[in-house]
Amino acid sequence: MSEDSSSEITPNEGERLTEVVKDWSLAHGLTVRPPPAVIAAEADPAGILATAVPVTLFPSPFPRVCFDQGIAVQETYNELYASISQDEAFLAQVVKEIGDSDDFITELWKVHIRVKEEGYVQHKSLGLFRSDYMVHQDSKGSTPQIKQVEFNTIASSFGGLSSRTSSLHKFLASTEYPFLESPVGRGSWQLPDNDSATRLASGIKEAFIQYGPSSTSHPTCVVFLVQGGERNIFDQRHLEYELQRSGDVHIPVFRLPFSEVLEHTTLAEGSGRQLLYHPPQLPSHTFEVAVIYMRSGYGPSDYPNQSAWEGRYHLERSAAIKCPTVLTQVAGTKKVQQILATPETPSNPPILPRFVVAKDTVSLSNLKNTFTNIYPLDDSESGLKARKIAADPELCKGYVLKPQREGGGNNIYRSAIPPFLKSIPESHWPSYILMELITPPPVKNTILRNGKLEHGGVICELGIYGTCIWNQQSGEILHNKQAGYLLRTKGDQSEEGGVAAGFGCMDSCSLVDVVGGAI
Ligand code: ADP
Ligand code: MG
Repeated sequence: MSEDSSSEITPNEGERLTEVVKDWSLAHGLTVRPPPAVIAAEADPAGILATAVPVTLFPSPFPRVCFDQGIAVQETYNELYASISQDEAFLAQVVKEIGDSDDFITELWKVHIRVKEEGYVQHKSLGLFRSDYMVHQDSKGSTPQIKQVEFNTIASSFGGLSSRTSSLHKFLASTEYPFLESPVGRGSWQLPDNDSATRLASGIKEAFIQYGPSSTSHPTCVVFLVQGGERNIFDQRHLEYELQRSGDVHIPVFRLPFSEVLEHTTLAEGSGRQLLYHPPQLPSHTFEVAVIYMRSGYGPSDYPNQSAWEGRYHLERSAAIKCPTVLTQVAGTKKVQQILATPETPSNPPILPRFVVAKDTVSLSNLKNTFTNIYPLDDSESGLKARKIAADPELCKGYVLKPQREGGGNNIYRSAIPPFLKSIPESHWPSYILMELITPPPVKNTILRNGKLEHGGVICELGIYGTCIWNQQSGEILHNKQAGYLLRTKGDQSEEGGVAAGFGCMDSCSLVDVVGGAI
């Protein structure tokens, strides 16, 4: 396809595609709860409405070499983060380096310490990961590569909607694009299969099986730990439905708001610490929780008071398999990513071999190839270099400053970095990392958002999902799989790409072969 098929559609075609995409999305659950900009919360008090998720009219061109690179490295990434999660001494050092100024990470770590003192009763751990990338080209004409934006170890979202977005674009490629006036859309589309919803659900199912039979008299279940008022609920529901669809074993799934953990769960009497869930709607039933899948608990707003922290502690010390544990959540901090990616110097020897078996040099170099420069802001050699960059009004334009937070909207970009750092005490700087901005080659597309078309330059971010189950104590990996992909696209004027936050939209990849370095 052309780099810009969407600019060539006529206004009538735009109208037609809008109708088709809107209806397909609603009919297939490519949906979210409507944002306040579309409908005020008061206008839908019973929560009966859904709206189509923002989506591109066409799949965006994406270099096949880059897509393959992301898929190929995912299982190594799963193994890497499983291994980091087991390295308590390393993570303790990470938390120390982040420092007390970050209350959230400090409190999170305290949860682990309390459980460690008492002893963990569950050694198996589930990771539903997503590694995010953008395309980078060293120079015009060179082979493009993917560079990692971040690695998510908690609440990696959009796997339920991304497989549907791929299906939408496949549908359009057979039913609509061939009839567009301009011939560009009629080329052959290389649209990779994407079964992220099924694969992520398989990871949860595998953990459910690994938990084993109930050891109380109660049937086992899976709990999705969620935020109240979640707008991206259908993304989560699709995983739940996939879990139910898997046929051979019936898995009861319950959605439990994070704020209600202490109200509706207890630990079984005795030393087993089985987590018991008492569904408020079924007062005569109790379930033993095999797996807790967290779609909440990743940021300070989920912990408004001490009782929320008690809730997290209560779950952490239970026998349920956690996705993720506190250790895995801490492994997913940007500080860990920075430590892995900080350029090597004589005083900063490579750390990767500590986690990935040294004999596996191919895996090691595949991982390294996805790193871009990330620096600490401490007083180490790299830290001092980063402080200079961050204070320089010109150099800072190529960087993003990140705190140890998840969920979007927390980063400080480019020229905003120097005044921001001046506004906080220097003693807090080490809780941030400074990362080089990745600048992907521009592509064009049209976004359908809230019924309106927005055409222009876009930036795409590829996420590759992975599922992994391992034993924290023995180090044994019990399950390790790549689990499909997400393509998120944003207007090229926007720094952040969050779909739910209203900046980005769903997309899928149209794989293109790179000829002479031109994308
Ligand atoms: P969060 O955990 O809040 O999602 P991210 O590190 O993913 O934080 O950053 C949010 C968004 O900011 C990304 O989705 C991406 O659009 C943009 N971004 C972050 N880091 C970079 C980078 N190094 N280069 C280019 N864009 C980036
Ligand atoms: Mg992100």
